[in-house]
Amino acid sequence: MTKKTIIWFRNDLRLSDNAALSLASKQNNEVIFIYIYNPKEQIGAAAKWFLHNALIALAADLKKYYGAKLLIKMGDEAEILTALIAKYQITKILWNRLYEPQAIIRDSKLKAQFKKQAIEVQTFNSSLLFEPNFIKNNAGNFFKVFSPFWRKCLSVIDSVNMPFTRPDKVNLVKLVEDNQSSVADLALLPTKPNWAKNWSNLYKISEEDVHAKAQDFIVNKVINYKNARDFPGQDATSLMSPFLHFGLISPKLLYFKLIPYLADHKGAVHYLSELGWREFSYYLLYHFPALETKNFNAKFDGFSWENDQEKLQKWQKGQTGFPIIDAGMRQLWQTGWMHNRVRMIVASFLIKNLLIDWRYGLAWFADCLIDADKAANAASWQWVAGSGADAAPYFSIFNPVTQSLKFDPEGVYIRKWVPEIAHLTNAQIHQPENIAGYFPPMVDLAKTRNIALENYKKL
Ligand code: FAD
Repeated sequence: MTKKTIIWFRNDLRLSDNAALSLASKQNNEVIFIYIYNPKEQIGAAAKWFLHNALIALAADLKKYYGAKLLIKMGDEAEILTALIAKYQITKILWNRLYEPQAIIRDSKLKAQFKKQAIEVQTFNSSLLFEPNFIKNNAGNFFKVFSPFWRKCLSVIDSVNMPFTRPDKVNLVKLVEDNQSSVADLALLPTKPNWAKNWSNLYKISEEDVHAKAQDFIVNKVINYKNARDFPGQDATSLMSPFLHFGLISPKLLYFKLIPYLADHKGAVHYLSELGWREFSYYLLYHFPALETKNFNAKFDGFSWENDQEKLQKWQKGQTGFPIIDAGMRQLWQTGWMHNRVRMIVASFLIKNLLIDWRYGLAWFADCLIDADKAANAASWQWVAGSGADAAPYFSIFNPVTQSLKFDPEGVYIRKWVPEIAHLTNAQIHQPENIAGYFPPMVDLAKTRNIALENYKKL
């Protein structure tokens, strides 16, 4: 007898390498596909825009490949699933696991509740190469430093299973829904003003498109990745981050695409290690669930921040008078994404030159990034602040002018995002002085650096 089964989509909005879907297909289950949006969940505005488009693409693929509907519901997950189970006499529920602390708590409760109701629950890892409780040091504890963590991961990387291909067919439960909600009903898109009106020209959001993009990156660009990835004026990184976050592509799929290049290309090895930083971020969040709100290293709790709100606003708007910072903050605002090197520079500036608590920066990124990810965002902000596990030492303070000269020597990136100074020469553009129509530098770099160092010394 086929089992009536719910497949609950979460941050795994894809059909290939989707463990829950593959199992249901293999076991011939009759399935209902559902996505539940809980407005209580904190998702930033830019990420909501991405999610809207990812759900539209998933619904279209389910229709195209299986003639299936994606049920869209809004509200409390437990209530919605319980009602659905009763309505359709469901006996089984499948999902791919999440690793954020709030999701773990919710999912454990649901699992216990369904078990009591004799509903079979099966869950899978489908979003990481290695689950956080799988990788341990020789003493059986969790790693706090990236290099040994990643060495350990690489030593067991052969245990990563081949990705599942998209199932050819699935059996469907016949739906009898009176008021079927649509993705639009979730109201994920901005309204007034619609700051994302041009974004669909920037991002092609579907599983098919992201596979093509990944393929193109690995075949044509990964070879130069190690050398070029730090230059924001070059199109040299994969831009996989929002797709990985919402699960339109899995890290396993990327890893298997990379395998043929790993022996010969330093670029491919380096790219894999960046996926490793993603793994490490989830690992840290799992083992230290307060990563988003508390210093990993409690020594930093006593740091005296200034938290000047006017300065914070100038930073947010890209009006600091430091072109590389302003370029980055405007790229973020205008596109929902920022280059990694520039993320590090703007974060260091906020924390160490403006003396603003890293949690303000994290919150701004969480709202503005299409790839906003609790694990990567928190781990990265704490890395820059010096308070994180395996963090940059507190005395390592990025000088935005030196960084700009080194990583955007021709000012390609700055000219694109700070057009009012595009006419300046390469020598002037990194540190313009008295340019009509552009902002004067909002702080003295040397002075503020010294204050930060003094404050750190007091810890
Ligand atoms: P690529 O260079 O092509 O890297 C491939 C993938 O590796 C990325 O898609 C990402 O999944 C992963 N990756 C790369 N670098 C890191 C890193 N340092 N930490 C964790 N994973 C990494 N990344 C997010 O996905 N979400 C965030 O909210 C986020 N916030 C950040 C905040 C700060 C202050 C900093 C310094 C970095 C942050 N990052 C975040 C990490 C990194 O900047 C982005 O993952 C990367 O820029 C995404 O672009 P890409 O896909 O082209 O990266």
